[in-house]
Amino acid sequence: MQLALYIHVPFCTRKCRYCDFASQAGSSIPPEEYVAAMLREMALRRQSFPRQPEAVTLYIGGGTPSLLAPRLIGSLIDATAEHFALSATAEITLEANPGTVTLESLAGYRTAGVNRLSLGVQSLNDGLLEMLGRIHTADEARQAVVMARAAGFDNLGIDLIHSLPGQSLTAWEQTLAEAVALGPEHISAYGLSIEEGTPFHAMMEQGELELPPEETAARMLETTMELLPAAGYAQYEIANFSRPGRRSRHNQVYWQRGNYLGFGAAAHSFLREPLFGRRWNNPTAPLDYLHVLATGILPDEQTMRLSRRDAMGEAVFLGLRLLEGIDPAAFAAEFGESLETAYPGALKRHFTDGLLQEKGGRINLTKRGLLLANRVFASFV
Ligand code: SF4
Repeated sequence: MQLALYIHVPFCTRKCRYCDFASQAGSSIPPEEYVAAMLREMALRRQSFPRQPEAVTLYIGGGTPSLLAPRLIGSLIDATAEHFALSATAEITLEANPGTVTLESLAGYRTAGVNRLSLGVQSLNDGLLEMLGRIHTADEARQAVVMARAAGFDNLGIDLIHSLPGQSLTAWEQTLAEAVALGPEHISAYGLSIEEGTPFHAMMEQGELELPPEETAARMLETTMELLPAAGYAQYEIANFSRPGRRSRHNQVYWQRGNYLGFGAAAHSFLREPLFGRRWNNPTAPLDYLHVLATGILPDEQTMRLSRRDAMGEAVFLGLRLLEGIDPAAFAAEFGESLETAYPGALKRHFTDGLLQEKGGRINLTKRGLLLANRVFASFV
């Protein structure tokens, strides 16, 4: 069995105002203790497979994984190699916050085996970074790119967010142009979403957060889909763009419903067997996660077996995120039913309203469909 592996590091220096990710600032848990628990989890999980699976990607995300010292990141990589036969050609990504890295730490991660760096730049405008509650400045983000190159990273991704409060279309275009000039191999560009429980949500409720009008937000996405491909970054997913051959291999496993195992607090896992697959997650609170591991049992929670219908819906809305879309023949072979008979109304409606198209024997979102993707996805779940 081939797998993607995910490791979650739920610690941050400070909580950003828009963030609802499983991460906490000011944790008193020693990093060594948390990493030791993940090493235990890996050893336990390995025992649940009769034969050793092969890991083809490893993604260390968070939170802020770059708060962990390179030796700890190295011990996690070594453990995945030992328990899950991490392949010699595996893509090994580390998410890094520009406000937490130095040339020395980046060189240490590279030596430890990280071969892809994903930098959480988010914006190259100091005012917007401050408003988001980020701990870094635009200049620190630029320096992080330079240091990453000096440390030997030849596969670098930059994450950006658009549709920010107070952001104009021109300001977003400038950020995109500057991001391109930094020369990363990969750019992710997500629209801000306001999540319940965040300071931004509270501000919005009180009328203190002025988001760009809907048309401007749509124009920002449209501009992204024009500017980045023109600069050599092909769009391969709604919010992801890459130089040739530099797509995120790890994230593609998610969108293609491949097998993945998550380690650490709040990490999610999915295996395609038995039948239509099962998913589970670990306790969200790091202390709960540590307590379960201390008893020597796997911390699986909310294990769910997918029904055929669940799996079909996932195959459609995850597959449609990718620009290449869905192969109807593969869908029919897997589920014993064609897309047309499974979703007759939704398919017809979105072909008619111009949000879906058939191209090269596959079904995918049109350009307009990419702008209104959530409306399409809602029809299949
Ligand atoms: S650095 Fe990332 S994970 Fe941490 S608080 Fe900010 S957005 Fe959330």
